[in-house]
Amino acid sequence: MSTNLVFFIWNLGLTKREPGAEKKFKEISNAYEVLSDDEKRSLYDKYGEAGLKGSGMGMGDFSNPFDLFESLFDGMNGMGSRGGSRSRAMEGEDEVYNLVLNFKEAVFGVEKEIEITRLESCSTCNGSGAKPGSKTSKCSTCGGQGQVVQSTRTPLGIFQQVMTCSACEGRGELSTPCNTCRGEGRVKRTKRISLKVPAGVDSGSRLRVRSEGNAGRRGGPPGDLFVIIEVLSDPVLKRDDTNILYTCKVSYIDAILGTTMKVPTVDGMVDLKIPSGTQPGTTLVMAKKGVPLLNKSNLRGDQLVRVQVEIPKRLSSEEKKLVEELSDLNKTKTANARR
Ligand SMILES: [Zn+2]
Ligand SMILES: [Zn+2]
Repeated sequence: MSTNLVFFIWNLGLTKREPGAEKKFKEISNAYEVLSDDEKRSLYDKYGEAGLKGSGMGMGDFSNPFDLFESLFDGMNGMGSRGGSRSRAMEGEDEVYNLVLNFKEAVFGVEKEIEITRLESCSTCNGSGAKPGSKTSKCSTCGGQGQVVQSTRTPLGIFQQVMTCSACEGRGELSTPCNTCRGEGRVKRTKRISLKVPAGVDSGSRLRVRSEGNAGRRGGPPGDLFVIIEVLSDPVLKRDDTNILYTCKVSYIDAILGTTMKVPTVDGMVDLKIPSGTQPGTTLVMAKKGVPLLNKSNLRGDQLVRVQVEIPKRLSSEEKKLVEELSDLNKTKTANARR
């Protein structure tokens, strides 16, 4: 926990649960950016007594700005009339799970059982981190406040900074750590979760499963579980958002005369009418054979079939004769038309 950041937030005058906290969070993010900047950082290194290095605040501590956000608010709580905030409840971290689906599972949705490993509240100590039945004593370093006030001299004057007490980690009391969780209050557990993946998801879709992330600290609410979807490609069907693309090969004769052919779709093989006189590169629309719209599964995209007309490279002598006859017929037709 950085003393310098407390300094920033102090000026913003934040209190937890304040409406518009979202907007304020952005301001805090800016504060974070200021600190990320090497030049500014050295300035604070110079004037902030604890300094960034001194407080052990490497860049790694910023990996989750929200953690920072939370701890900043926790830092604030102790400064007001409330006095020591003994509980210091903290929301648990979010957890990420990568889920791979096959093409059809993504199109139609699927129910999947996934196994996740996350931190759960320790049942031995009920998440308190204290060995059950052990006596707790008031922290002598902070006098039970959970925080200590430190004065820093800067060219702008003396700033008082509130820091979390390192002796008791802000709890205000010291206790024998629980054997199960070693005082952490949380233990790693593996859990199976049944997940309903909605129809229409695609690679990169994120599903949020509320409260299935890591348990909060000291009675704080759990984080969320984010499931990130990856969809495997299909050998013949390609996806373009809610449409499905397919290329079919049609003989020149079928293109001329027209035909009905079986085409693979996500619903299985379906008849597709190739009208007579179909030109090469024509796109035929198979309405509502595409992907259901996410959260509007009664609506579906289309399957777009591109027609590739195949011209034979070799003909049998009989075929050649017929095509030559056709050619003669065509010449006569053209000649007649010119007359
Ligand atoms: Zn425990
Ligand atoms: Zn203490």
